Amino acid sequence: MQTLLTQILDEVRPLIGQGKVADYIPALADVPANQLGIAVYGNDGSLYSAGDAQTPFSVQSISKVFSLVQAIGHSGEAIWERLGHEPSGQPFNSLVQLEFERGRPRNPFINAGALVICDINQSRFAAPALSMRDFVRRLSGNPQVLVDGKVAESEYQHRSRNAAMAYLMQSFGNFHNEVELVLRSYFSHCALQMNCVDLAKAFCFLANEGFCKHSGEQILSPRQSKQVNSIMATSGLYDEAGNFAYRVGLPGKSGVGGGIIAVVPGQFTVCVWSPELNAAGNSLAGMKALELLSERINWSVF
Ligand code: GLN
Repeated sequence: MQTLLTQILDEVRPLIGQGKVADYIPALADVPANQLGIAVYGNDGSLYSAGDAQTPFSVQSISKVFSLVQAIGHSGEAIWERLGHEPSGQPFNSLVQLEFERGRPRNPFINAGALVICDINQSRFAAPALSMRDFVRRLSGNPQVLVDGKVAESEYQHRSRNAAMAYLMQSFGNFHNEVELVLRSYFSHCALQMNCVDLAKAFCFLANEGFCKHSGEQILSPRQSKQVNSIMATSGLYDEAGNFAYRVGLPGKSGVGGGIIAVVPGQFTVCVWSPELNAAGNSLAGMKALELLSERINWSVF
């Protein structure tokens, strides 16, 4: 596995220079583009990594899975009264569908859906940002995981689109807390800094029927874990989820920081990171690395 990971990174490195680092959040535009890392964490506790796997980056939309898991944990099926679990076929920050569908987001992994999930969590936790930070520290086994305050503030300063979604949902009665407060929580989750190893470990419960070995916690029931994986498989890469299923064939979740996490149920999790994105907002080299990995190990859920 170690040799395979190094080989894959060597093969995808030439893609660096062909994508574009997210710059709509100014604090993200400063990230050096030529970075590339990968980590694999097995259900048997084995850990392999290559490249910049220890360099922390902004998890961005990967955090949408953590928020969803928290919400399922305390509210279970009731959350689906507020949003759906259908693919959107739209960019992650699109407003169009939301107006047509009367403020009910298609799924928890587009921004509108993640904002509703944050609203649900805001009603539950006294300090959602801290609850989330502590949750991912436990999941990753890394007590040093931090929120990058500069990124969170930069996102808040450039919040127009996300704020528009939240206020639109409020106008339809699908937002219960103060919008600006929920936006703050949402941006603080997106601004979590984690590396490939942290993320591969933090997602291991989804490869292991909801059980996280290193924290000893049953995070979700096996059924809930299967459900989260299915939403990742159908909506984890926004309007490119179909392409990801076609090329990689695994439940996955991406973020505009350039990270992508993928789950091989029953076996392992893999996190890849490279900051340059394609037009859909997914890591260009990261997608290719996961495609090569799933091909070489001959593993896909399909
Ligand atoms: N914080 C980003 C936003 O709200 C997250 C988007 C993403 O990673 N796709 O726009």
